[in-house]
Amino acid sequence: MEITQHSKYPCPACGKTAVKRTNVGIWECKIRGCQKKYAGGAYVLGTPSAATVRSTIRRLREVVEA
Ligand SMILES: [Zn+2]
Repeated sequence: MEITQHSKYPCPACGKTAVKRTNVGIWECKIRGCQKKYAGGAYVLGTPSAATVRSTIRRLREVVEA
């Protein structure tokens, strides 16, 4: 829980691992020129979305290497 809430997460918009929780329920990408804000639960973005991005990247990588 602690680590989850204080870590950075992949930004769905720019792909950089730079999304941090700013306020409760607000996530913001720290990349200049992106700075997308995401509303969600306390760590909704961190857990399911990050896992989804990771599995998607892994799937794409497998396709490339196949
Ligand atoms: Zn971004």
